[in-house]
Amino acid sequence: MSSPNSPAPPAAETPAASGPSNFIREIMIEDLKTGKFGGRVHTRFPPEPNGYLHIGHAKAIWLDFGLADEFGGKTNLRFDDTNPEKEETEYVESIMADVRWLGYEWDGLFYASDYFGQLYEWAIQLIKAGKAYVCDLTAEEVRQYRGTLTEPGKESPWRNRSIEENLDLFTRMKAGEFPDGSRTLRAKIDMASPNLNLRDPVMYRILHAEHHRTGNEWCIYPMYDFAHGESDSIERITHSMCTLEFEDHRPLYDWYVEQLGIYHPQQIEFDRLNLTYTLLSKRKLLGLVQNGHVRGWDDPRMPTLSGIRRRGYTPEAIRNFCASIGVSKTNGIVELSLLEHHVREDLNKRAPRAMAVLRPLRVVIDNYPEGQVEEMEAVNNPEDASAGTRKVPFSRVLYIEQEDFRENPPKQYYRLSPGREVRLRYGYFITCKSVVKNDAGEVVEVHCTYDPATRGGNAPDGRKVKSTIHWVSAAHAVDAEVRLYENLFTKENPGDVPEGQDITANLNPHSLETLERCKVEPSLADPAAFSHFQFERLGYFCADPDSVVGKPVFNRTVALRDTWAKIEKRGNA
Ligand code: ATP
Ligand code: MG
Repeated sequence: MSSPNSPAPPAAETPAASGPSNFIREIMIEDLKTGKFGGRVHTRFPPEPNGYLHIGHAKAIWLDFGLADEFGGKTNLRFDDTNPEKEETEYVESIMADVRWLGYEWDGLFYASDYFGQLYEWAIQLIKAGKAYVCDLTAEEVRQYRGTLTEPGKESPWRNRSIEENLDLFTRMKAGEFPDGSRTLRAKIDMASPNLNLRDPVMYRILHAEHHRTGNEWCIYPMYDFAHGESDSIERITHSMCTLEFEDHRPLYDWYVEQLGIYHPQQIEFDRLNLTYTLLSKRKLLGLVQNGHVRGWDDPRMPTLSGIRRRGYTPEAIRNFCASIGVSKTNGIVELSLLEHHVREDLNKRAPRAMAVLRPLRVVIDNYPEGQVEEMEAVNNPEDASAGTRKVPFSRVLYIEQEDFRENPPKQYYRLSPGREVRLRYGYFITCKSVVKNDAGEVVEVHCTYDPATRGGNAPDGRKVKSTIHWVSAAHAVDAEVRLYENLFTKENPGDVPEGQDITANLNPHSLETLERCKVEPSLADPAAFSHFQFERLGYFCADPDSVVGKPVFNRTVALRDTWAKIEKRGNA
């Protein structure tokens, strides 16, 4: 990467961005052309360490790091840690791990708390310039005095204190002489401004709380608006990207840096990512964790980066998804199925195939020699020849999926049924001859014959079968647990809550189904945690860290598109 002052390459030579261009990229190209920031691009990603990052943050990370990379610029990771009561070191560490997992590395690592001393000096500077004052109104009174969109605010009775008195009081606020909430430092701007953010916003509040980094050194803490632009300025950020809700804060961002006469970065707002059936708010996600609705921040149903990683989503899929949704100036909602599409597309290329039976049904091949085992050659990934092949044991007793057998097959159901011949993947053609039922009348075992001439899956006489099903040899199968996930919420917009209830009213009671008697091929006995597989005909799965040797646990990342389910649904409609 280039040094801060070396010019980035001219736009024409810039490699094409991944994904279509966007308005922020165009702003950068223009600024590089005019030399607005001395030919530099320097962005920052500024999370508050009050929770784990979610897929919405991935969009911001992709923009901040991706655009800087494209223009040979730099990106800082800055923790916006100005709310000591909500922030924790655990969150700092998870955020760093998640940014790296997405594939990005920061140039500088900073904390807003690094600047508490400098921010305090700047507050003094504004007091001395008559631009800030200590106000004794309570938080509730400040709200009442602020006015509304249609009514101007009222000036605080403390607005015209002398500079000396303000300096004295502010120093004593810092020294800890006053209780929480008793006073604030406010910027003196304009109580009649049509922009409520400019009606004498609070710059500092008193909070006797221990901070995860500065301990008890401070008992006054700067507000977001006073800390953010100033931190950007200190780090000489060029393009400071944030979500649209900060658009109305931009005049305040500009006001502070202009009054202080310091380096002036450009704030640019873009649309927040919203996804159907998904809640994207650290605060609300924390509630799900604290109230035990999920197993933790990394529960595979969570939209956190650690959750979707455990679910089996890949960083490549997430980056491709971000590129496909682009950025705009209006908030919308993106279909969750688009994210799943990118996950399937990426895993199709990289996930080795394997055979696994989730709900086993015993199949006995009556004419197959007792005690014989054949090693069938199976392709690891038809999309990737370099992935090679593996041997899968075949024997007289197998497991197939319960749903791959119907005693009375409906129309268009071509899988195994009495008298029907089907292909066993990488195996033989088999024909169902009879069934064994339990006392309840359920089929518990299917008896078949096989045609030895069809080894590998083709009949020399050219006869065809309409269906190929997967299987696992009973004697060689490994017991496995498989966790199937559905959306955590039943509503497209889970934040839309019925009167008098909270978001838990929208929770899907069937979001997790645990299958404990699954049978998987022997190569899956001891998978590396987080490794990906395509279970043939079922979907993509990821080895969970709960796995133990001989009892692997798999999370279903996403199902393959199931054509039969669609036919059946249509039939019932
Ligand atoms: P949350 O409500 O989940 O805590 P936040 O906006 O308060 O979100 P921050 O930690 O302040 O979270 O976010 C860091 C950066 O990520 C900010 O620039 C913010 O605008 C961006 N960001 C957060 N959520 C989204 C989202 N859903 N889509 C795009 N960017 C987001
Ligand atoms: Mg926040």
